[in-house]
Amino acid sequence: TTWVYTFGDGKAEGQSSMRNLLGGKGANLAEMSNMGLPVPPGFTITTEVCTWYYANGQAYPPELKSQVEAGLAQVGRQTGKIFGDPANPLLVSVRSGARASMPGMMDTILNLGLNDVTVEAVAQGAGDQRFAYDSYRRFIQMYSNVVLDVEHHNFEEILEHYKDRKGVSLDTELDAADWKHLIGEYKQKVVHETGKPFPQDPHEQLWGAVGAVFSSWMNQRAITYRRLHQIPESWGTAVNVQAMVFGNMGDTSATGVAFTRNPSTGAHELYGEFLINAQGEDVVAGIRTPQNITEIARIAAGSDKPSMETALPAVYEQFIKVAATLEKHYRDMQDLEFTVERGKLWMLQTRNGKRTAKASLRIAVELANEGVLTREEAVLRVDPASLDQLLHPTIDPKAERRVLASGLPASPGAAQGEIVFNSDEAEAMKAAGHKVILVRVETSPEDIHGMHAAEGILTTRGGMTSHAAVVARGMGKPCVSGAGSLRVDYQAQTMTVAGQTLKKGDVITIDGSTGQVLLGEVAMLQPELSGEFGTLMGWADQTRRLKVRTNAETPADARVAVKFGAEGIGLCRTEHMFFDEDRIVAVREMILADDEKGRRAALAKLLPMQRSDFVELFDIMAGLPVTIRLLDPPLHEFLPHTDEEIAEVAKAMGADPRKLKARAEELHEFNPMLGFRGCRLAVAYPEIAEMQARAIFEAAADSAAKSGKPVVPEVMVPLVAIKAELDIVKARIVAMAEAVMAEKGVTFEYIVGTMIELPRAALQAGKIAESAEFFSFGTNDLTQTTFGISRDDAASFLNPYLAKGLLEVDPFVSLDQDGVGELVKIAAERGRATRPDIKLGICGEHGGDPASIHFCETVGLDYVSCSPFRVPIARLAAAQAAL
Ligand code: ADP
Ligand code: MG
Ligand code: MG
Repeated sequence: TTWVYTFGDGKAEGQSSMRNLLGGKGANLAEMSNMGLPVPPGFTITTEVCTWYYANGQAYPPELKSQVEAGLAQVGRQTGKIFGDPANPLLVSVRSGARASMPGMMDTILNLGLNDVTVEAVAQGAGDQRFAYDSYRRFIQMYSNVVLDVEHHNFEEILEHYKDRKGVSLDTELDAADWKHLIGEYKQKVVHETGKPFPQDPHEQLWGAVGAVFSSWMNQRAITYRRLHQIPESWGTAVNVQAMVFGNMGDTSATGVAFTRNPSTGAHELYGEFLINAQGEDVVAGIRTPQNITEIARIAAGSDKPSMETALPAVYEQFIKVAATLEKHYRDMQDLEFTVERGKLWMLQTRNGKRTAKASLRIAVELANEGVLTREEAVLRVDPASLDQLLHPTIDPKAERRVLASGLPASPGAAQGEIVFNSDEAEAMKAAGHKVILVRVETSPEDIHGMHAAEGILTTRGGMTSHAAVVARGMGKPCVSGAGSLRVDYQAQTMTVAGQTLKKGDVITIDGSTGQVLLGEVAMLQPELSGEFGTLMGWADQTRRLKVRTNAETPADARVAVKFGAEGIGLCRTEHMFFDEDRIVAVREMILADDEKGRRAALAKLLPMQRSDFVELFDIMAGLPVTIRLLDPPLHEFLPHTDEEIAEVAKAMGADPRKLKARAEELHEFNPMLGFRGCRLAVAYPEIAEMQARAIFEAAADSAAKSGKPVVPEVMVPLVAIKAELDIVKARIVAMAEAVMAEKGVTFEYIVGTMIELPRAALQAGKIAESAEFFSFGTNDLTQTTFGISRDDAASFLNPYLAKGLLEVDPFVSLDQDGVGELVKIAAERGRATRPDIKLGICGEHGGDPASIHFCETVGLDYVSCSPFRVPIARLAAAQAAL
């Protein structure tokens, strides 16, 4: 077996496609060598050695030793040096490198091969004592830290003491004699800490370092990182051993890092920093202030230190060419590491650079415009989820954050305002011109108006799919949910955390993208939907097959969704229309009525209001399909709670308040989610469905009478389990449509369908499709009912499940493809078998989740429907799913 792959001198045994075997760093070092770029020679010990090492009681494959020796010999030939030779020593770096870049792995060791003898030879060879001893002390410090477990601070303390004694403050003020002295102290420290002298044998040093890389694969940090990022343990890490080049050999030497484009804006400009006479990570370590690479950047930064462009002009010219070559070769923005040794440029690393969402969009579009990428490739380059960052205000990264508490990042974006603890007050304060953050223990449907009025919502209880989270996402409002360390006292109108008490009217900022709750007003950045956004979305639209609709019931939401490119409404939740102040009394009257007559009287009051809702929605949607769901939630959600509210309803109905109270108690349910709701309401009280159908069809008739494209309403019956349920309700709907057409003397089109949100409905989909003209998968409820998990109570056990790895993702966030997805598939197949042209869509929260959208594409649904602010995400994810 080949365990070792060499690179250098314009060629390599590996290449960039061998990332799995060589790790990311090794594969790209090989590739750069093959491209003829200046790369210090070296070799990569493969990831298979790591796997072998753990499979064989932490031992090495027998052939490894000789292959490493051969590698060292080859590097020696190419550099004209010999590893371990006292007179002409080769020094190397030992660098870990997994397939995916992985913090938590071993730090790089530089200058390996130095000892008390070779250091002198290096000094002689370079004609620079200070350089050699500076390198040696760095090596002792790094090696001791990484391999021998002697912590950095041990050495830093020695250095600080020494500088104090000498009365200097900068490392650069120390000379060779100082470093020699310090090396003595460092070595004593190693003996003191480990009981053994610092290893002098370069071969022992090398194997110690290699062993440390492989052991770091199993350290706690790495294990945790892998678990969080779903990186399998079996991948292993590679080890790169590479000839040292020195950026610390005086004023024509330097080390630096650069991006080929600006990683925060995406602008096509080289962006980077370097330091003269420095080594390795000095640039990022913050010991000295780094210098700009380009002159333009130096001027923009107002720096008085020369840029690389003026300090090392020849190297600079070469470097920008190399950078451009690499970007073109990899067809993506590159993150580069380089070193200059006495005026000669050496490339030490290249990889695709990390970037902000904004930069990612701009870079993808510009690379496509430059002809480097196709439009399809550009579409694939942008992470749909990252668009969230672009659509909402964000906290200025430069702003100071005084964190009060942390909760769940329930709905992205930042918001700030005065604290208010109830929804009526939120509305009143908003009307008086204040910006408010609604703070609640948890929210309920009665808080909708307060949530609308608030800039953002903060709750102390509840998970990612709690009422507050779902509704806030729907509204596109920032929300932090479940900030458990906060104590809200409604009585006192205060909120307390860690001994600090905030009153109503105090200002806070919430960051719904991180879950942080911050004190006071914090600087925010407004979203900028740049030209690139529109361009990329246009390319996505040309690519996708799935239609994207929105879940919306208010005109404001519908308008936002249309602006974001929604192609219809996939879910209009009519109950949300019932909480407005002018309606809730009539709704309560309807619910509390004793008989059908009483209910009809109350419904008659609701009809004109409901009709005007639809007229307005249909106008906004201008010919696009609109799916309207009949009343779904358990009735008691609408009930009055306080005596005051009961009295109000009693007055409106001319009824006895005590009787009403008794009726309200009757409606109490132990398990309302599985209770008297959905089509069960329409079966028991068909007059409710009739009123809603009338409102819908009168609005449709109105729309058909107007010029332009009429809306085709899709009337949706929720929570069907039995075909007969749908049939009963559908008969009423159809009769109503005919009645309205006759009354108005117009015809209009409409269809009737059902939600598939119960396992029985999914299994019976073949039968149900005889009556249903469309299915909409209500995957929130379908997830609850398939798992038997209440989403309102799930946080307490789902979180431990996620932590223990029993579940990979929260099934309310990303569709459980194995279980819930199986039901979706079955229902789609059976439904199509009965009615080949049945329209299929999804309207759960999952409709805006990229992984779930991929699944919808594979099942061949016709559309996904999501909250307005997720529409762009869904458009992009749908395009990627189609590619
Ligand atoms: P990381 O994965 O943390 O970036 P690297 O292995 O890239 O670690 O090493 C960090 C830095 O060490 C490099 O950016 C480079 O400055 C320096 N370095 C690594 N190998 C060498 C080498 N052979 N010669 C000179 N400097 C090196
Ligand atoms: Mg690096
Ligand atoms: Mg439902």
